[in-house]
Amino acid sequence: MDPMGPVVLIIGAGISGLAAAQKLYKHGFKNLRILEATGRSGGRIRSQKYAKGLVEIGAQWIHGPSPSNPVFQLSTQYDLLSPEALSEENQLVELEGHPMFSVIYSSSGKQISTEIGENVVEMFSSWFQKSREFTKGGCNPEDSVGSFLRQEISCSYSNWDKDSLELKMALLNCLFKLECCISGTHSMDCVALGPYGEYKILPGLDCTFPRGYESLVSHIKASFPSDMVLLNKPVKTIHWKGSFHGSDSHMYPVQVECENGETFIADHVIITVPLGFLKEKATDLLSPPLPSYKLQAIQNLGFGTNNKILLEFEKPFWEPECYAIQLIWEGESPLTEPKTNLQQDWVKKIPGFVVLQPPEQLGHVLCAFIAGKESEFMESLSEDEILSTMTSLLRKCTGTPNLPPPISILRTRWHSEPYTCGSYSYVAVGSSGRDIDMLAQPLPEERECAKPLQVLFAGEATHRNFYSTTHGALLSGWREAERLIDQYPALHSVFSKSKL
Ligand SMILES: Cc1cc2nc3c(=O)[nH]c(=O)nc-3n(C[C@H](O)[C@H](O)[C@H](O)COP(=O)(O)OP(=O)(O)OC[C@H]3O[C@@H](n4cnc5c(N)ncnc54)[C@H](O)[C@@H]3O)c2cc1C
Repeated sequence: MDPMGPVVLIIGAGISGLAAAQKLYKHGFKNLRILEATGRSGGRIRSQKYAKGLVEIGAQWIHGPSPSNPVFQLSTQYDLLSPEALSEENQLVELEGHPMFSVIYSSSGKQISTEIGENVVEMFSSWFQKSREFTKGGCNPEDSVGSFLRQEISCSYSNWDKDSLELKMALLNCLFKLECCISGTHSMDCVALGPYGEYKILPGLDCTFPRGYESLVSHIKASFPSDMVLLNKPVKTIHWKGSFHGSDSHMYPVQVECENGETFIADHVIITVPLGFLKEKATDLLSPPLPSYKLQAIQNLGFGTNNKILLEFEKPFWEPECYAIQLIWEGESPLTEPKTNLQQDWVKKIPGFVVLQPPEQLGHVLCAFIAGKESEFMESLSEDEILSTMTSLLRKCTGTPNLPPPISILRTRWHSEPYTCGSYSYVAVGSSGRDIDMLAQPLPEERECAKPLQVLFAGEATHRNFYSTTHGALLSGWREAERLIDQYPALHSVFSKSKL
């Protein structure tokens, strides 16, 4: 056994790849390299200077910051969180993923009473809870979360006060749009009902990183040598089940070929590229190709777009205690088909804005979220066009025709990112948690497993309970690192002895 351990290549320097490297390195694997396609580490964790401070282009919050969340644990250990985020009170909050809005504007420029808003959120939350109760059966495979929620609304609205019916429908429609952002999907009709409750919601009031989410990435990276990460190395093909000469005259089963023709040999490779990239490239990424059950899982699972539009204002037009602004379109209802004129109506898909905190450090910044086809269309527009549309939107909804326009804009384009191709994964109608497990399965398959593992799979889309999150991604990286660590008990004991 080489005292440096086997040669392991990790494809992708997002949090899953970095977490896998961190764990392997700690357990004595020194022959490690991470090949990253872009010029930076962090993947979908990306903090950037904007306005007077830092904003998040990708992941924004730790979802469920409480002791069972490894991102929370690690960030606490690295001292990256604010005292409020660390408070016990914060960790015990059970929001079940439903943020409340503090101001609601309608498309005719009226402010809507928060009482009606709260009443609608309460109803929606109870149906949403019910939609998570089908993991053991009780629904058809083709049922979606959207169709279930609509059914609940249909059964209930005849009892509502006629005067507020239209308004409540518009509010509910807005919550559907918000849910699309959370699930990273075009429509809740695309999200499978049966497995929906398999996604685990952890307790804790979502929190942010005062020095940016990337501060977590920097700390993880600092735990292994910096030359282990090779940037600008887009991987084109992973040749496996082969026999390739290493410079040390050993033979290796895997050879990784980059787009520029450069090659790297390995005993094992851990693929952490996003599901969106796999959907585009999976058929050619491996040679021999992936088994059909894996290609099927990649096709079945959902991977959608959620983008942000950040607007900086000279002065806030909202009250200091306002933390979120909701926009509703009069006449809209979840029970009627949405309009499809993207050019004209894309902006109506925005459910509202989060007021970024703290303004003393950041400036006065609103962050809109937008999901689905409208979000992908938004990526094709210039920032000037978006700024002008957003100015008109805010003037219309606040009923202030002379509202000063934002002084700057920054929008994300996750669908156009060639090595991500969208935002995050969801369990689409026609798929199930089993597809996630299939995607996570290492190769060669178990029945051939007299052979050592060659290709392993991590990344947020491979975690059955925490897909779409940073903690899911982190746990998936650790899982695959442990899979390899278990295969080398001798290395582990050499390493443990050398530490004594
Ligand atoms: C807008 C947005 C908001 C989000 N908000 C939250 C949030 O609030 N909270 C939360 O928990 N999560 C959030 N997420 C999700 C979270 O960011 C991801 O789940 C997580 O960062 C994914 O990590 P990963 O390592 O699986 O993938 P990635 O971070 O995507 O890493 C994969 C890496 O592989 C690289 N790669 C791809 N192809 C190749 C190739 N051929 N060769 C070499 N390298 C390649 C990519 O460049 C990338 O760096 C958000 C994501 C987005 C986009």
